[in-house]
Order: sequence, then structure tokens, then C-alpha cells
Amino acid sequence: MNRISRLSQRLANQIAAGEVVERPASVVKELLENSLDAGASKLDIDIELGGLKLLRVKDDGVGIHKEDLVLALSRHTTSKIASLEDLENIESLGFRGEALASISSVSRLSMVSKSADDAADSAWKVEIQGQELQASLAPAAHARGTSVEVRDLFFNTPARKKFLKTEKTEFGRIDEIVKRMALSRFDVQFSLQHNQRVIHRLQPAKSHQEKQRRVGLVCGPAFIENSIFVDLEGPGLRLWGWVSLPTFSRSQADLQYFYVNGRIIRDKLVTHAVRQAYRDVLFHGRHPAYVLYLELAPSAVDVNVHPTKHEVRFRDSRLVHDFLFSSLHKALAEVTPTEQLAAHDADQAAGALNTPGAAYGSSSQLEDRQSNLSLAEPSTPAYVGGSRGFQPGARQIQNHLAAYAKLNADDAEVPPLGYAIAQLHGIYILAQNKDGMIMVDMHAAHERITYERMKQACRNEELKMQPLLVPLSIAVSRTEADCAESQQQALLAIGIELERVADESIIVRQIPSILREANIEQLVRDVLSDVLEFGSSDRIQAHQDELLSTMACHSSVRANRQLTIPEMNALLRDMEATERSGQCNHGRPTWVFQSLNELDKLFLRGQ
Ligand code: ADP
Ligand code: MG
Repeated sequence: MNRISRLSQRLANQIAAGEVVERPASVVKELLENSLDAGASKLDIDIELGGLKLLRVKDDGVGIHKEDLVLALSRHTTSKIASLEDLENIESLGFRGEALASISSVSRLSMVSKSADDAADSAWKVEIQGQELQASLAPAAHARGTSVEVRDLFFNTPARKKFLKTEKTEFGRIDEIVKRMALSRFDVQFSLQHNQRVIHRLQPAKSHQEKQRRVGLVCGPAFIENSIFVDLEGPGLRLWGWVSLPTFSRSQADLQYFYVNGRIIRDKLVTHAVRQAYRDVLFHGRHPAYVLYLELAPSAVDVNVHPTKHEVRFRDSRLVHDFLFSSLHKALAEVTPTEQLAAHDADQAAGALNTPGAAYGSSSQLEDRQSNLSLAEPSTPAYVGGSRGFQPGARQIQNHLAAYAKLNADDAEVPPLGYAIAQLHGIYILAQNKDGMIMVDMHAAHERITYERMKQACRNEELKMQPLLVPLSIAVSRTEADCAESQQQALLAIGIELERVADESIIVRQIPSILREANIEQLVRDVLSDVLEFGSSDRIQAHQDELLSTMACHSSVRANRQLTIPEMNALLRDMEATERSGQCNHGRPTWVFQSLNELDKLFLRGQ
């Protein structure tokens, strides 16, 4: 072992840079945060060669005092906090006073700034190289604000450089950072260029429409078309933003933006709560998409838990978890056909949807705007005769005509999902409402209706518990046993009666009777680990729902059963009245809609 010696300032900075400056995108993140903290309203980001050659961020913020320019580059220098009290009430994005020191220790950095105090025609420029040479200060020209230029990142730390990916990949990451930032501040103008090519130019967004437009530009038009806007309040909490309809799910968790007081975070607790809200409606293995903003008192959340500030700690994590879960769960349950159709109309009006077949549920699963209605490209003749076709009886024709007459009477109330006209191939119901055509997967729809009814029945009754013939003893950790003991009442409320019998052992006496076939030990372990981590557990309900879902699936109308028109209409009315009826129990869409406009386009009518 060598003797102990003090690290040089430069080496210390380079070590610290390891945490903050992982790749070009992390530099962009830090620079943008600084600009936003400086009150900028306009940000110009210039990138060359994926950021390896050059990264430049120009802002119109408050600027930096000439005397502070050099100081800003050293470690632990910040204008954002001065005391521990400030740290507990952070409202700025930065506060660690590390970014500029770290970045400049692994690059050639120059910074030009003009603060309000500088004379009208004078700005100052500071330059430094890997913090090897003394920083030099010289007069320069700049409008009020700051430009930071970072060249040759990692020129003096080749090991780091080796970990970088291709130009394209690194730029992709930068782009992602810029998008995240752009969604965090609608009031700020963003422009991003790569190798002199404009990638984004986002104007400040004030109205709801403009914000929605920016979300569409950043997340893609399909997301906005297939999401609902929520704005919910809880005790000291507000949650607003856009969440995808369950039928618009993704194979990866890549379209998930969550902001806490304007700061983007990736947090286990948040992800868990949102996932849980989608539990019952999402296709297996798929991920929801969302852009959500949580607002709460700065003192209720600790942001100083991670160097890149990607994680936060909520003072009352259980409250936050439950609020997120219950408000989103409710919002998703309340998506009725009327609302989905209204959203569809709005998109049409805004001209957002003009590809045929981009109706609800159809564009979603494919994640592009191709139609999965076979209508787009008829592969069979439009009229098929023979036994498989719809052959109406006299009464059915009468019903059909009556419904049709109602549809055409101006004053008549037409239900959102309209009236049934026919059954196709024993699988789909064809219906029409005032504005177009609706197709329903009758098995999927019926399954959801049965399932929701069974759930309702199950919850209205007290949870029936059943004593275990032989009480089950489980060895657990001390923490788990503590938790089991202190949460005994809460666990009883979800149907588990247990008792701590030793330091590291519990005994389960009763369980919900519907779960008697389940693996009790595993279930109790999972419940305890949930309660420890998130303050509550929905595993019992999840298990119960899974069982009900299977039962519903088996007891629902099978494909190829011939339904009468009144039966079909009854199913449509049930769908309108049922929560989550837009998706079957497995998250597939139960119905799709095409407006007359879209149909006209398919047939090139009026063009
Ligand atoms: P932190 O952001 O944590 O304070 P930094 O190293 O990122 O630490 O920045 C140090 C200081 O430099 C900031 O506190 C701020 O006063 C100043 N600064 C950095 N960038 C800008 C900018 N774009 N506009 C105005 N001031 C800036
Ligand atoms: Mg900073």
C-alpha cells in the first residue's frame, strides 16, 4: 500500500465527472438545466458528430457576472443554494455546483455570458481545457444570456471515450434529453440542430391546444390521438397530463415521461403505481405510454438522493403511490365510448387523423397508422352471398328498419355505439351511429362486461375468508415479520389473517376463499414485500381479478354464436354502461369506429 496523499483538484473533478458526465447527452442535460435555472425563454442547441465534436447551448437567461465566470467552473460553486434550509426547499434544477467543473475537466470548454450588469456592448468569455491551464477571461460579444460550448469531450480520458456508441446512438440520446426537457417547460422555445440540420423547432406553448401540439410533436401524433387528458387533485397533490388509452400500448417502456415539480424522474414507486392502474386493461407484457406531471410542495420531496437527480424520495411515499394509482385507475375506468368518440371527433377536426382506419383501437396495436380493419384493402368482394352471409328474418328486418329510422330522425337520441345492423362471420357486430360505422368484437366485449359484473359482485360482498385447515407457518426476515405485525389490521382488510409467532416467523390462519387454490406462501411473501416497498399491496385483488377474468372468459358468448338484432343492441347498451368496456380482459380493443368522413376517403368520395 502507498501512503495517503491528497488528490489534485483536477483529478478529483475527473472522478466526479464519472458520475455526472457519462456521455454527450449528460452534458446537454446539465447545460439545459443551467439555462432553465437562469430563467431562459429560448434555447438553441447545436450538436456536431453526436456531441463528440461539439455541443453548444445558447440561452437568453440572466447571464453570469464577469467576476463569477471563472468561479462557476470550479467545484462546489453555485448560486442556487447557500444553506441546508435551501436544500430542503429546492426549486431549481441544479444545486450541486458540480456540472461545469466536471464537464470542463474532461473537455475543452468555453463560456460567453452577458449579465444585466454588464455594459451594453460588452460580454465576457472564459475558456478552459481539461482544467489543465488557468482559465482565461477575455471580452466578447453576446446578447444577454449565456452560451456554453463543449468541444472534444473526453479528449483527456480515452477510457471513457471507448464506452461511447456510434454518432447516431449518441445523438439519439441527446434528442431524448431535449424532448424530456421540452415537455417539462412548455413556455420555453427549443431548437435542436445536428450537423447543421434542424431536428426540432418548438415554439412556446401557452394554450391547452398548443401544449397538446407540442406533446404530439415530441411523442408522435398517434400518442395524442390515443390518449386522454387528466387533471386530478389529491391532498396537497396535483396530477395532470396525458395517459394512453389501454389499447395504445407499447412493446417497450419508452414513452413514459413523469415529472415531479418539473423535474423528470424515473422512479420505481411511480412506475409501480401507474402499472397497477393499468393492470386490468393492458395487454399482457405491454407498456402504457404517458406524459404526467405531479405537483406537490417542494418540501414533500427530497431530490438530493442521486447525482444525476433521476430519482427522488417522497416524504409520504404511500400517499403519493395511492394517489397516483387510484386517480389514474379511476380515470381509465371512466373512459366511455362517448369520450372515445369525442376524442376521435376532436382529432378529425384538428386534421390530426386523416389516414383511413386510424380509428380508436385500430392504429394503436400496430403502433403506426396502418389500418387493421380489413376494410382498407378489401381482399374479398364487398358482397358475399351464401350461408355465411347475414340473412335477416322478417322480424329482424323490421327491427333493423325501426332502428335505422331513429338514426335518421334529427331529434332522436342515438346512443354512442349506435344500433346493430348485422353480425359478421359470427364474430363481429356491425353497427352504425350518427357519425359512422362501429364494429364490435362480441366475444371480447361480452367478456369484459361479465368480468366487471363479477368483480362488482365480489367487492360488494364482504371478502369471504376461509380458515386454513392447517395454519401455514412461513419463515421470513425480521423486517418482514415487523411489517406483518404492524400491518396486521391492514392485511386483515384484504383477507389475510396472520400472526407473528417468533422473531423471524409468521403463521397464516385465514385467506380469501376465492384464492384457496393459490400458492399461499408465495402470495403472502409478495404482499409483504409490496407493503414494505410501497406501503400497500394489490396482489390479493390482482389474484382475485385474474381468477374472475378466467371465469368470465369461459362464460362469455363464444364466437360463431348467432345473435339476434335485439341481443346485439342489448350488448351495445351494456358496453356503454360498463367501465373499461373499450378493452377486453386481456387489453385488446373491443370495438373500432370509422367515421363517414373516413369512409368517404376510402372510396375517394368528394375528392
Ligand atoms: P449548479 O447548477 O448545480 O449550481 P453548475 O456547475 O451547473 O452548478 O453551475 C455553476 C453556477 O454557474 C450556477 O450556480 C450558476 O450560477 C452559473 N451558471 C451556469 N450556467 C449558467 C447559465 N446558462 N446562465 C446563468 N448562470 C449559469
Ligand atoms: Mg447545473
